[in-house]
Amino acid sequence: MLSITSQNYLFMNTKNKGFDTKLIHSGDFNDVFGAAVTPIYQTSTFAFRNADHGADLFAGKEKGYIYTRIGNPTIEALENKLADLENGTGAVVFASGMGAVSTLYAATLKAGDHMIGSEAMYGPSRSIMETFFKDFGIEATFVDTGDLAAIKKAVQPNTKLLYVESPTNPTMVLTDIEKAAKIARQNDMLMAVDNTFSSPYLQNPLDLGADIVLHSLTKFINGHADIVGGALIVKDKELYARLRKTMSYFGANMDPHQAYMVIRGVKTLSLRVERATENAMKVATYLENHPKIAWIKYPGLKSHPQYELAQKQMKMPGSMISFGVKGGFEAGKTLMNNVRLALLAVSLGGVETLIQHPASMTHASMSKKAREEAGITDELVRFSVGIENVEDIIADLEQALEKI
Ligand SMILES: *Cc1c(COP(=O)(O)O)cnc(C)c1O
Repeated sequence: MLSITSQNYLFMNTKNKGFDTKLIHSGDFNDVFGAAVTPIYQTSTFAFRNADHGADLFAGKEKGYIYTRIGNPTIEALENKLADLENGTGAVVFASGMGAVSTLYAATLKAGDHMIGSEAMYGPSRSIMETFFKDFGIEATFVDTGDLAAIKKAVQPNTKLLYVESPTNPTMVLTDIEKAAKIARQNDMLMAVDNTFSSPYLQNPLDLGADIVLHSLTKFINGHADIVGGALIVKDKELYARLRKTMSYFGANMDPHQAYMVIRGVKTLSLRVERATENAMKVATYLENHPKIAWIKYPGLKSHPQYELAQKQMKMPGSMISFGVKGGFEAGKTLMNNVRLALLAVSLGGVETLIQHPASMTHASMSKKAREEAGITDELVRFSVGIENVEDIIADLEQALEKI
């Protein structure tokens, strides 16, 4: 990783500082003018001082910038911040979360290899493996990674990657990351965790033994529903170099303006996640006691089968809730068509409350059989709790549930 320093102005070293201090200051550097906020270096290319300088940059003999697909100061400031937040040594950011997923697969798997994934992972993360990567000769088995015995059973001699989401989207199944990482290590496979649902504020998979952390920055990290982005964060230097090279050759790079927006959005991560979780706890309790709700899955409720694991592994249970309405899909549809505060839209983790139907929306790319095996039933409604006044969120649900 390049490191940007300036002799001209004082800037903070965030080593050993608290998470909130890192949110604000990690990755900061002072440009020649002493800008208080990371500037947007909206440039595709960087001039060399002379021909030898250009050659030295390409040969890696000197640090500096060449071309924005390979590296850019604004993008690097975000990468340094994310690496710090996940306790990694390096991060690579992408145009989207799916850019991170596809680059991860391409960088760690080759024809003849096998991957184990969480059965209810983000729809496209699973479907690109079952279509494009299958055509490239890569096999995959999707299991309930919440069940460690199921992971062990799926291991083959050619298994190279264990790819886990915890909690899973949208079934809210947790995986014991520390124990799953031990299984991965014993079997010489890399372990990647899609940490999008938790954000680095609630859970740090690298500290629990994972090799790679993946984020859709679109969700909690940016948090304002105005940018798409992705990231991979690692500890190992060699793995970092492989991921960076794959990103820059395949070209799923982030844009400097996008990086600036994420740097701005992430600064309030802990404040947003804390308030959204506080709201989610109240919304989940309200739904659990509502006569028209058939079932609810929220890791903060004692009724969640992995409540204990959530308490141990996550700082807080987060703000994602899945539930079923009595009367199945038709009743759920009535609810979705009648909410007014909650926006009927995909995505999650923003300041605004969102509601959506995974079977016909985010997970429509999976077969019905695979969806049902993974617990993504037609009646499942996914709710991303925002930071509006919780009384208003509940009143909105109440008036919509009355319509059923
Ligand atoms: C949204 C999401 C992705 C994909 O990210 P994009 O930024 O939409 O490309 C991957 N994993 C999870 C868990 C997600 O929610």
